[in-house]
Amino acid sequence: MIRFDDSGLISLRPREQFGKGQFLWAAFGRQGGVSEGPFSSLNVGYHLGDDGNHVTDNRVLIARSLSLPPDSLVAAQQVHGSTVAVVDESDRGRGAASWEGALAQTDAMVTAARQTFLMLVVADCAVLTFFDPVVPAIGIAHCGWRGMIAGLGQKTVETMHATFGSRPEDLKLIISPSIGPCCYEVGEAVLSPLRAAYSDWRSLIRESGNRIRLDLWQMARRQALDSGLQSANIFAAEICTACHTDLFYSHRAEGSNTGRFAVLAGIL
Ligand SMILES: [Zn+2]
Repeated sequence: MIRFDDSGLISLRPREQFGKGQFLWAAFGRQGGVSEGPFSSLNVGYHLGDDGNHVTDNRVLIARSLSLPPDSLVAAQQVHGSTVAVVDESDRGRGAASWEGALAQTDAMVTAARQTFLMLVVADCAVLTFFDPVVPAIGIAHCGWRGMIAGLGQKTVETMHATFGSRPEDLKLIISPSIGPCCYEVGEAVLSPLRAAYSDWRSLIRESGNRIRLDLWQMARRQALDSGLQSANIFAAEICTACHTDLFYSHRAEGSNTGRFAVLAGIL
């Protein structure tokens, strides 16, 4: 298992004290689990064709590696939408060990509840995790191109402000490993809504010949700055999942027959 906090690739440690809050954040790669074949081995996504018992075992493994009770996780039925759910103690354990129990039609979650660990599962998409050290509170958002263009990161910040009184200037953001501007080639289906949403859309892409690649990391940064975050509070792993299929699952590099890795965060 990989925890980037241990390897120094990201500047936040697994348990970090900011202000009043002590937070946990971890991204797991694909190694160290029990799934087999294309799901080898730490797949945490149900409904992909993997053995559900293996998925449950993998979720228990990641929780235990962080010394968390497995039923303290909260998971979502992610649909590349733009719904932000407000989570409290009563939601703890939802979707921790089953697809059916997870929050329906949800791609972002916010909470001020302690010991309630919000988990998203991805294979290329970026997970944006916001930490408010003052309230304290957290928010987590699953953003592929649809979520980015829908402004799901901004919506998550707005929900934290409206629900908990979080001030954007206090927030810290971690951008998880995800498909990078080296590999994320896109066509008109993405470029057309991108141009409509951003007048300076060219700053969010890289062009070489007729190939255009989207820069999700730059989009996440840009949206966070637009939301009022301070540049010094934005941390990006900047590790491309498609370039590193030994370490991560990548839908773009491996096709649909692959697993999902976990990104989770909580207030201790
Ligand atoms: Zn790449």
